[in-house]
Amino acid sequence: MSLFICPLCRAPLNVQPKSWSCGQGHSFDVAREGYVNLLPVQHKHSRKPGDNADMVLARRAFLQAGFYAPLRDALVALLRPLQAQTLLDIGCGEGYYSVAFSRAVPEVIGVDIAKPAIRLAAKSCREVIWLVGSSALLPLADASIDCVSSLFSPLPIDEILRVLKPTGTVLLVTPAPEHLWTLRQQLFETVQAHEPDKFLADFEAQFELRHRSQIEFELRLAKTSLKQLLLMTPYAWRAKPDRRAALESSEKFTTSAAFTVLLLQKKT
Ligand SMILES: [Zn+2]
Repeated sequence: MSLFICPLCRAPLNVQPKSWSCGQGHSFDVAREGYVNLLPVQHKHSRKPGDNADMVLARRAFLQAGFYAPLRDALVALLRPLQAQTLLDIGCGEGYYSVAFSRAVPEVIGVDIAKPAIRLAAKSCREVIWLVGSSALLPLADASIDCVSSLFSPLPIDEILRVLKPTGTVLLVTPAPEHLWTLRQQLFETVQAHEPDKFLADFEAQFELRHRSQIEFELRLAKTSLKQLLLMTPYAWRAKPDRRAALESSEKFTTSAAFTVLLLQKKT
């Protein structure tokens, strides 16, 4: 039985090296880089949905420099004892975390709506299955996945429930209340604390909380890394241009990253 379903008619997809197709004759080519675009034109809400190429490249450079390695390593350590066979990473971007997860889980699938991100991911790693697709309609069969991860990404709870196996788990990472606090103080008159509990509340009816932790570490940023971080966070777009310019002119900036990590298990 195929893990994957057709995004148009939801029939199982027959996975072949050059294209994936369903019994209704819908067919999706495997791109030269190895990913499959399962986002039908009619499901796109804009011509180029998701993060643009500049944001993707900034994030790739920032993450490859290792700034978020403490978070990545903590997540891999949390996944290992679960012994999941399949993991779906929703909103995987250019795949920094999905690639790391493939060290702990035999079959990892990364899905993102942004084609530039998936193309870059596929170019650098062939061990993960990379899909352009919508989180609103995940192209995965019912009860096919052991673990779903979503890091700073959409949380389509009904779709997550559908694709998870009966006692499957969800790994959520969201900014902790004080994430990048001093950086945000430079950008805004008043800084609002993030609210991780808001996400938890949405899951409580159908999931049990198995683990909760906060991961914090200092970021010592030179000018280039600071600019990359600003490009990859949503904050800079909402800041006044003069405040952003002032911050970007700093030669060095030190701040703290803080994340809330939640592991939830589907109730049977
Ligand atoms: Zn079909």
